[in-house]
Amino acid sequence: MKEEIKKFFKGDVLDDDINLKTYSRDASLFEVRPKLVVLPKDSEDLKNLVKWIKDNPGHSITMRAAGSDMTGGPLGESIIADVTRYLNKMGEISEHRGLTFVLVEPGMFYREFERKTLEKGLILPCFPASKNLCALGGMFGNNSAGEKTLRYGKMENFVLETKVIFSDGNEYLVKPLSREALDIKIAQGDFEGEIYRKMNELLISNDELIRNAKPNVSKNSAGYYLWNIKKDEIFDLNKLLVGSQGTLGIVTEMKLRLVPEKRCHDLVALFFKSWDELPQVVNAILPQDPESLETFDKDTLKLGIHFMPEVARKAGSNFFSFALKFLPEVLISVEMLGLPKLVVLVEVSENTEAEVKNKVRNIVEAIKPFNIWSRIVEKDSEEEKFWVMRRESFNLLRQHVKEKRTAPFIDDFCIPPEKVPEFLPRALKILKDHDIDTNIAGHAGNGNYHIIPLMDLRKESERAKITAVADKFYDLVAEYRGSITAEHNDGIIRTPYLGKMYNPEVLELFKKTKEIFDPLNIFNPGKKVPASQGKGGTLEYLESHIAIE
Ligand SMILES: Cc1cc2nc3c(=O)[nH]c(=O)nc-3n(C[C@H](O)[C@H](O)[C@H](O)COP(=O)(O)OP(=O)(O)OC[C@H]3O[C@@H](n4cnc5c(N)ncnc54)[C@H](O)[C@@H]3O)c2cc1C
Repeated sequence: MKEEIKKFFKGDVLDDDINLKTYSRDASLFEVRPKLVVLPKDSEDLKNLVKWIKDNPGHSITMRAAGSDMTGGPLGESIIADVTRYLNKMGEISEHRGLTFVLVEPGMFYREFERKTLEKGLILPCFPASKNLCALGGMFGNNSAGEKTLRYGKMENFVLETKVIFSDGNEYLVKPLSREALDIKIAQGDFEGEIYRKMNELLISNDELIRNAKPNVSKNSAGYYLWNIKKDEIFDLNKLLVGSQGTLGIVTEMKLRLVPEKRCHDLVALFFKSWDELPQVVNAILPQDPESLETFDKDTLKLGIHFMPEVARKAGSNFFSFALKFLPEVLISVEMLGLPKLVVLVEVSENTEAEVKNKVRNIVEAIKPFNIWSRIVEKDSEEEKFWVMRRESFNLLRQHVKEKRTAPFIDDFCIPPEKVPEFLPRALKILKDHDIDTNIAGHAGNGNYHIIPLMDLRKESERAKITAVADKFYDLVAEYRGSITAEHNDGIIRTPYLGKMYNPEVLELFKKTKEIFDPLNIFNPGKKVPASQGKGGTLEYLESHIAIE
């Protein structure tokens, strides 16, 4: 296979043991060894590769950006295509009719992208907590989100147009279409036209089913978002492609909308003795339109304290001056007679100091009736200590805990925020019943929380807990009509559980969607459509690919 591909492929083609091993892992708990890794020089390479795979049955292609996925999304048994080496360029930032946008290739790391956008005072505000690790192709693939999503929404809100290679091996411009433009597209009668025709028919003939399938939460990455394709007479396949984990096509370029970064900001840190008042406090604060409303629990706080030197380094500070910055929180803990059970970070960002101060005053007033402690943090350097703790908690666990490993499998649920105090004790009981330790951090404003247990996956008894716990946990999420994944997506870990969220008729539509785009199942098989694509998408596949080390 390698020699045949090298005949037409300009980029690198690798099959040595070290590379195959490296690409058999991401940030999930899985290991899947590919046969070949390719680093495409340009989209021509990818087009030719897709055509070759189409003509040579038995192979498939799984796209990979930075590989920080927590679901096994960029893992596959056949060919892995890593876009970060060459497909990583960014165009000039432009403005047209009040819209600011930029063209970017999928292999560009978000951290480099942000450095350039910030030079112009602009950001792509859907960046994830892994913003120092991830690349833009992966943010598209997972429909990523993060601390500013409360105000700005997920990646799906920022994709204006894309260039996508479909399974016929040709590259197409995908953009929002008016009804007339859709008719013209359908009339083409070619592969692209057929995708539009069949998808349009699928939407029309299953209108009610699709509308009812839309999850009742503010964030969702699970399944194919059929309900988002048609809106106000506009038909936009990007709303489906985003978050589809490379199972419907390969993105080779994105036109992304950017927004101005707010010039002034303050942070209000809140300290709670219990989860009980959280929803009422969140509701009292939301009218002030905070940019972020994030939370982490006592165990995450303890983790931050335990790894203080590392947290200090990540915040760009030295240990002693960093530790001193926590003096006010130490005093609050003394008043509270112990560490807070929960810390909530409310970021207020506006264009003027006056607006910020006014909102902060309103927030302080709004939380007065509650039994919580608060602190206004005005200095950037002091704010950073909280954000590093919030963003880096999972990474600290990944890198430092010996013998046990982070095991993301119930890592990203979302339920209506007001149900959190009722839901959490029930969810935590499931973990306790299986003797699993964990910590919790998340996006309180959206009701989206990350639970990342620590487990020793060398033990079979521990590995067995994964499906046992996930089964009960996702039943509970379904009871609250929530989403089993708000941001991280389905991959190997959640595809088998999509039936907990969507009924069999909806799953059948997911299957049909996949068949319309990818009839030969060459794009990232086994993800997003449960148990119907030959290998993958099943509990057996999940269980047999858990990495032991
Ligand atoms: C410490 C940590 C914190 C995290 N926090 C968050 C968070 O706050 N929010 C969040 O959303 N996620 C989070 N994640 C998960 C992950 O980092 C994000 O989803 C990230 O956006 C993935 O980007 P990546 O470049 O690493 O993508 P990869 O892992 O390489 O790929 C992700 C998916 O996109 C697909 N893909 C990649 N390139 C293409 C392409 N060109 N065309 C089509 N499909 C493609 C892949 O096949 C895969 O399915 C976190 C992960 C870690 C390790």
